Amino acid sequence: MASLEDLPVTTLKGVGNALAGTLARLGITSLQDLLFHLPHRYEDRTRVIPMGSLRLGDTGVVEGTVMRADMVMGRRRSLQVTLRDDSGFLVMRFFHFSAAQKNQLTEGVRVRCYGEVRPGRAGFEFYHPEYQVNPPAMPPPGEATLTPVYPLTEGIQQPRVRSLCRQALGYLKRYPIPDWLPPSLLADYQLPDITSAVALVHAPPADAPVHLLMEGRHPAQQRLVMEELLAHQLSLLLVRQQIQQRQALPLLPGGDLTERFLDQLPFSLTPAQARVVADIRQDLSQPLPMLRLVQGDVGSGKTVVAALAALQAIGAGAQVALMAPTEILAEQHYQNFRQWLEPLGLEMVWLSGKVKGKARTEALGRLAEGKARLIIGTHALFQGDVLFERLGLVIIDEQHRFGVHQRLALRDKGAEGQRAPHQLIMTATPIPRTLAMSAYADLDTSVIDELPPGRKPIETIVIQDSRRDEVIERVRKACQSGRQAYWVCTLIEESEALQCQAAEVTAESLQERLPELRVGLVHGRLKAADKAAVMDRFKEGELDLLVATTVIEVGVDVPNASLIIVENPERLGLAQLHQLRGRVGRGEQASFCVLMYQAPLSQNGRARLQALRDSQDGFVIAEKDLEIRGPGEVLGTRQTGMMQFRLADFERDRDWIESVRTMAPSVMKDTRATEALVRRWLGERVRYGDV
Ligand code: ADP
Ligand code: MG
Repeated sequence: MASLEDLPVTTLKGVGNALAGTLARLGITSLQDLLFHLPHRYEDRTRVIPMGSLRLGDTGVVEGTVMRADMVMGRRRSLQVTLRDDSGFLVMRFFHFSAAQKNQLTEGVRVRCYGEVRPGRAGFEFYHPEYQVNPPAMPPPGEATLTPVYPLTEGIQQPRVRSLCRQALGYLKRYPIPDWLPPSLLADYQLPDITSAVALVHAPPADAPVHLLMEGRHPAQQRLVMEELLAHQLSLLLVRQQIQQRQALPLLPGGDLTERFLDQLPFSLTPAQARVVADIRQDLSQPLPMLRLVQGDVGSGKTVVAALAALQAIGAGAQVALMAPTEILAEQHYQNFRQWLEPLGLEMVWLSGKVKGKARTEALGRLAEGKARLIIGTHALFQGDVLFERLGLVIIDEQHRFGVHQRLALRDKGAEGQRAPHQLIMTATPIPRTLAMSAYADLDTSVIDELPPGRKPIETIVIQDSRRDEVIERVRKACQSGRQAYWVCTLIEESEALQCQAAEVTAESLQERLPELRVGLVHGRLKAADKAAVMDRFKEGELDLLVATTVIEVGVDVPNASLIIVENPERLGLAQLHQLRGRVGRGEQASFCVLMYQAPLSQNGRARLQALRDSQDGFVIAEKDLEIRGPGEVLGTRQTGMMQFRLADFERDRDWIESVRTMAPSVMKDTRATEALVRRWLGERVRYGDV
């Protein structure tokens, strides 16, 4: 039997090839796609609002008579049409208008219009409202319905999408949408079947509760939200299933590498580290690829955990690849691991995009022969010519800067035929629980939920950059008493070149102001060797003040540094700031983080800086970040696609996330249902490659 999925949009009246092409850009090719192109909000045009009762920011319909229409010159020419009703006045303003419009909107004409109230020079105004001249009578109260608003793309307007959806609804009787969710489940949650849910959201009946619809809490909307969240969950579980259909080398703990490593460490593991290491040990022993995410706050000691995983793999005869998102971080890992592993007689190689020619050939040769047991580097590790003798484990550090797309690509890379390496992924800062449950449903999670003993709290100070002089004095004092400091220059959305230049200028002027201090500079444009040399000097205490771009944000570990100044913190996300702040507070002395903002701060910016000042717990900050900025931003821009839901909203629909996670495994048992649901909501984007 044909289904809506098999009916192309060209089935509809008025849809030819051109329109079909436009619709395809919205991911719509079948009638089913069209019906799952859901209104993301509604406009309430069911009643006329008296002009006198409008407030700034209101949206709605008003109706009145044109009192006058004037061409206004000013900065931009505009047509200003003043309307009045019994209660007051309102101005419609048009910056683009035709002669016909101007001739039509003359004194005495009745107009109904829909818009948003803005402050204007003539009082309240609607800019470019949708309007009707000599409108028909409003439907009586109780018969009017909400107006759906759809996502659009260039070349198509709301009215067209609305009418297409209405036309498509006509097919539902003959071709109901298959409901893949068990009726018992729907009954449990008191949710409608899929066909009525879809029909309702496109054309809400007059008696449907307006406030529920406007808020997205109507049962029909919630039914769709739940299904959408479920489909996303299922798609990740499918990815997981695909990987786990492959085999992995079981890497049994053995030999004495681990013990010898632990013996030489100057500290013992925290209970939380020990617990996570045990999780990993268990996973690695299986003939099934490990897929594990390790979360831990800044400074919780993830690197040692990674090293122990690597040692288990190497001890079992496998090779390990460790990848970090930036060269500076990869370099830092390389130094650490060298210090730790070379005494154990293990050889490792370093690879970044900047390693070329003979050095590269040699490194790759040692890896392919199996002489090198560990390779550390940036994503250059996953180029086609990097071959392993026996790759058993891939460790990805600070992974949420890589993005889902890259995460999945890496997996494919490490896999050959029926075999896939074990994978350990470590995040830079915690991810809120609900977000982790959705975005990382394909991974098992371990959390390092305690910091090594003896960490001192960091005092965070938020001040305006007009007090720069005081801040510079503070740096002078700290460094004179033997401490070290970071000065972080931020310039985002501009080129890396500009960023580096800004850091150079700052470093010069700070050196001038602080002639007695030894000032160093690192940024992304330095050669790897130069960068490493500066970092080394800072680490060895040969520099007092390190001026840097955000390249130092992750991983850099210099316990004697106890002061960090961040310029323009309002431009950065909370997680990033928390990560930067985590560069201090690693040693014995009290530490400070100075966030030096540029006034004026937006409300949002203020809230972010306050959140940071009030908490040092990465998990709390991550929740706050999610609340303030939303999931896309929290995961990093490269991942936003993944969290772009049609209907679901992370805040509002939080409670579903947990439920959906519990119901997913039982839905997975029905392969047909699973595939159909994923296709319905994610279409061809299932592999996430282009989501
Ligand atoms: P992150 O989780 O931010 O990557 P690191 O692995 O860089 O943290 O560890 C931060 C610092 O804490 C390092 O100097 C590391 O040597 C130290 N460290 C790690 N584990 C412990 C521990 N159990 N006891 C004391 N210090 C530790
Ligand atoms: Mg780290």
